[in-house]
Amino acid sequence: MENNAIHSLPSLTEVVREYNLGANKKLGQHFLLDMNLTDKIARLATPLEGAHIAEVGPGPGGLTRALLSNLAESVTVIEMDERFLPALADIGRVSNDRLSIVKGDALRFNIAENLPAPRKIIANLPYNVGTRMLLNWVTATPLFWDQMVLMFQKEVAERVCAAPGESAYGRLAVLCQSVAACHIAFDIPARAFTPPPKVDSAVIVMRPLAKEQQYPDLKLLGQVTQAAFGQRRKMLRASLKGFAKQHNIDVLDWIEASNIDPRARPETLPVSAFQSLASTLK
Ligand code: SAM
Repeated sequence: MENNAIHSLPSLTEVVREYNLGANKKLGQHFLLDMNLTDKIARLATPLEGAHIAEVGPGPGGLTRALLSNLAESVTVIEMDERFLPALADIGRVSNDRLSIVKGDALRFNIAENLPAPRKIIANLPYNVGTRMLLNWVTATPLFWDQMVLMFQKEVAERVCAAPGESAYGRLAVLCQSVAACHIAFDIPARAFTPPPKVDSAVIVMRPLAKEQQYPDLKLLGQVTQAAFGQRRKMLRASLKGFAKQHNIDVLDWIEASNIDPRARPETLPVSAFQSLASTLK
């Protein structure tokens, strides 16, 4: 019944035309108007029954429709551009009260306070603020989300999910993988978006690690990884020298006390090595 009502809405292309929803580049607007694709993304987060979804930047609502069709308990969309509100309200009218529309900046919206658990964050994120939002959600304590399904530029998705030794491996991978299991589900070519961005995208799926496996101090871990990867081609003892000095400790003592070879290069070390460095420093 609900599915039928969502499917009876005019097509997204018609909605964009009817409400004159041209893309605003400043707000990172690239729309997914292919409902097969939005459905494929929503299904990465199934089961959605019982889950409360926060969707950042719904735009004309393609992903929003797919989340509702796949039986999300509730969907809260946070959109900065008020031009989309009438199209979103049309979806709300056939959603059986499952859609809440928030107009504003998602960076200022507290998902944990406004949505009941279990919560999932599912979004085609604006390029300009996507990484910042991800870092806010990853460093939140305690983690308030049960799953995230997020679309980024492919290059950012690779930096989140990279393994040691890969060129994309760095601070973002260490931080994200210190609290969550992360993987790239699939790529989306630039031509799938309206208008097409300059680069391809990818969808990542993140699930929190068991509580006792989550590294507890991401702030310190962030500082250590920033120092270590600041000079990623150097040996650890060189790249961490300045940071150790600021903390009045001997760099070799610190690295050896963390059971790491001081001659290792940061890009080859596992996530656990950076956690050891941070824990020893503490
Ligand atoms: N979800 C839609 C889709 O897939 O077709 C649109 C995705 S588009 C890449 C990003 C959306 O995020 C735009 O609708 C834009 O207006 C919105 N947006 C940009 N910055 C935002 C912010 N800080 N808070 C909330 N929404 C934002």
